[in-house]
Amino acid sequence: MAKKHILIVPGDGIGQEVTTVGKQVLDRIAEKFGHEFTYDEALIGHVAIEATGEPLPEETLVKMRASDAILFGAVGHPKYDNDPSAKVRPEQGLLKMRKELGLYANLRPIKLFDELLEASSIKPEILKGSDILFFRELTGDVYFGKRERLDDGNTAYDTMIYSKYEVERIARKAFEAARTRSKKLMSVDKANVLESSRLWREVIQKIAPEYPDVDVEHQFIDAAAMLLIKDPRRFDVVVTGNLFGDILTDEASQIAGSMGMLASASVGDSTGVYEPIHGSAHDITGKGVANPLASVLSAALLLDISFGLKAEADAIIAAVDKVLKEGFRTRDIANSETPADKILGTYAMGAELLKHL
Ligand code: NAD
Repeated sequence: MAKKHILIVPGDGIGQEVTTVGKQVLDRIAEKFGHEFTYDEALIGHVAIEATGEPLPEETLVKMRASDAILFGAVGHPKYDNDPSAKVRPEQGLLKMRKELGLYANLRPIKLFDELLEASSIKPEILKGSDILFFRELTGDVYFGKRERLDDGNTAYDTMIYSKYEVERIARKAFEAARTRSKKLMSVDKANVLESSRLWREVIQKIAPEYPDVDVEHQFIDAAAMLLIKDPRRFDVVVTGNLFGDILTDEASQIAGSMGMLASASVGDSTGVYEPIHGSAHDITGKGVANPLASVLSAALLLDISFGLKAEADAIIAAVDKVLKEGFRTRDIANSETPADKILGTYAMGAELLKHL
């Protein structure tokens, strides 16, 4: 029996709705497998700014550090998207959380459920069988390098910066994962142009001999972006930097048919954070139509990675598979042939899922 304390951080927009379902699934798993999960909740993003003036209040950080794992929703609000000059912004909460918790590795499994082959804009025969695990570096790169708008206001720069140890620690995680899968690792960079990418490649090449059973392939980001839609089955474990990973994983989300289906894990020195890859989706907030499956699959990742509860994680994935096989869809993954009575809202989808747990 596992005894664990989980912090729920719904954040903004549909984050509130989807984490409700994610938590219901965790509760059911605890009941079914005889674990004891306790919960707390905390604020981040726009809701935190409104309540405290801070996108990541100290109280939230304290609760984060005190928990065994964090189920996260999303941050963001149109108010800030349309006002680039706003000094206090929801996404600062997200970046600060990653830095403070030392979350340097973002894992994004791109798993395609067969029933959703048609939901992707890529041809089913190209997609079928795709199964990719991305490792995106999370605490370096242009997101944290020096940036400035020059005095004349007409020029700005951001610095792409990496240190050897940052590349090495994420590379090791990716090599280890490759060992448990098909023993292939693709490292993506832009080493033909960028000095930080040359350092990246050098580090990968230096540690590769420690994993003689893993085949390493280097690709430039432009080629990788092209290959990903041309031949997604060629990819297995991929390791890349923060910016390239951001873009590549959103592209890869189309392989899975919808942003609403993809989960991610951010891990590093302390508590792991598990969240959908989608944002706060204000266009559908409060309408009860958000797909909760990315949050549910995030809960499965949480159980697997932070608690080592693989059977429990697999039970969740199997339940998702079953509801999809029964034909149930949320609006984002439905198509013109989906019968109206099979198109479910957020909570109805959660309820169908719970029937299989
Ligand atoms: P988004 O992911 O919120 O939405 C993109 C599109 O996908 C929208 O049409 C939305 O309705 C749809 N969508 C997303 N998740 C869905 C789900 N679960 N079910 C059904 N449809 C879904 O991205 P965006 O519109 O570019 O950004 C909205 C806000 O979210 C912005 O403020 C942005 O800064 C923020 N954001 C936050 C995160 C995060 O918290 N990690 C990530 C991306 C964007």
